[in-house]
Amino acid sequence: MKTKNIFELDPERLATTDEHGNRVYLYPEDVKGIWQQRRKIFYWFLILLYLILPWFYINGKPALMIDIVKHEFTLLGYTLYGVQPILFFLLVASGLFFIAFMTSLFGRIWCGWACPQTVFIQSIFMKVEALIEGKARQRRELDKAPWSFNKIFRRSLKWFVFTIISLHIAHTLVGYFVGPRELLKITMSSPTENWGVFVATMIMTTIFLLDFGWFREQFCIIACPYGRMQSVVMDENSLVIAYDVKRGEPRRGSEGVQRSDEGDCINCYNCVKVCPTGIDIRRGTQLECIACTQCIDACDDIMTKLKKPTGLISYKSENELKGKPRKVITARSGVYVAISIALVSLFIFFFNASTKLSLVFLRSQNPYQVIEAGQTVVNHFTLKISHQGAEKFKVSFKVQDPELDKQIEIVTPVKPTVVDMPEKKFVIFFKFDPKILVHGTRKAVIDVIDLETKQIITSKEVVLVGPTN
Ligand code: SF4
Ligand code: SF4
Repeated sequence: MKTKNIFELDPERLATTDEHGNRVYLYPEDVKGIWQQRRKIFYWFLILLYLILPWFYINGKPALMIDIVKHEFTLLGYTLYGVQPILFFLLVASGLFFIAFMTSLFGRIWCGWACPQTVFIQSIFMKVEALIEGKARQRRELDKAPWSFNKIFRRSLKWFVFTIISLHIAHTLVGYFVGPRELLKITMSSPTENWGVFVATMIMTTIFLLDFGWFREQFCIIACPYGRMQSVVMDENSLVIAYDVKRGEPRRGSEGVQRSDEGDCINCYNCVKVCPTGIDIRRGTQLECIACTQCIDACDDIMTKLKKPTGLISYKSENELKGKPRKVITARSGVYVAISIALVSLFIFFFNASTKLSLVFLRSQNPYQVIEAGQTVVNHFTLKISHQGAEKFKVSFKVQDPELDKQIEIVTPVKPTVVDMPEKKFVIFFKFDPKILVHGTRKAVIDVIDLETKQIITSKEVVLVGPTN
């Protein structure tokens, strides 16, 4: 009786579940090749960037820091102050549409080349696992073996190292929000002094540990929203990792029996053995494929040994596989990039607008006082000045209308007024002769003048009130 190859997947269910719906653990085999070399270099570039960036100072500031409490965003020595949630939202949304644009051109390039999940698992966690538990076959055997000293020792060591790595990744992430100096201080002090940060770091560590160490491809297959979105974003012109059916089929029999009419696929299952999500790419583009390119290298290696051209599995669009030309920019990708640019433009517009001074006059509970035997009326306000740029201003206030300016005295507690924070509040009084009022009110436009440049920075109308007679 012929036995079924263990790498022949059941067409009815996921490779990572058995007939009872239980998880089947994967043991992807190691693969070498040009794509793995490229990925390795790029992955380590990303990892080093991630680890170094929060510790690297430019102009005395961390290279990248997001201070949520102060609404500050620092990048390469330049700080955007008072970045409101709407601005963050615009940046993130623009990034998402840019990823959608890249996906429409290059398929799941994000998953295979830049997703932290893939980068950390493939570059660090799987390497540590292979170092401690051995190659794919040894790992599979260790899993099946009964508990022994050897198994307990290797498993404990693996999870110990995984925990140290996860702690490091989580602390680095915290560094992006609190800054390196604060992070060092927090790390050196007792957890009781920073409960919030401590708990957040421990939660992140647990998530990284379980996800990168155990959940792995399940996240990509079951939980990742981007994976679900790709079918909407991609079309027949998007590049995907694809098996050339015309060239490969009919494939050799799964037991290695040669056939006279066979194509180039010798049915060695190497492409399946190396796949981190356990799929057989010869069944066409699948949701589970994270475009990691491992099957390309595995198959190219076989083709090279057979002295056949490489590329039986390669980056190709559906159109190219059908022999049609590939359109690089399509209407769909054009829309994504246009939305992304529009969102960045909105960000720049709102940010520029928000770096100007904005004034709000908040009237006090007692709208006016009459003093000096009815000769003078006083209006009392709290003035809120917001600005979101890095500049500091020394300002004075003036009524715009020259005639009215002679009749209204503006009194501030300190002169000149210094605006050196994203938001500042102080009291301001307007003293005037009640004769300027018309039916008890008078509008006046107040100019804010920069004392250094003598220029008007901004203006705001205020309504003065007093007795109606
Ligand atoms: S099919 Fe190929 S590219 Fe897709 S996940 Fe598997 S090995 Fe990676
Ligand atoms: S690695 Fe290439 S030759 Fe081997 S089964 Fe996969 S597609 Fe066929």
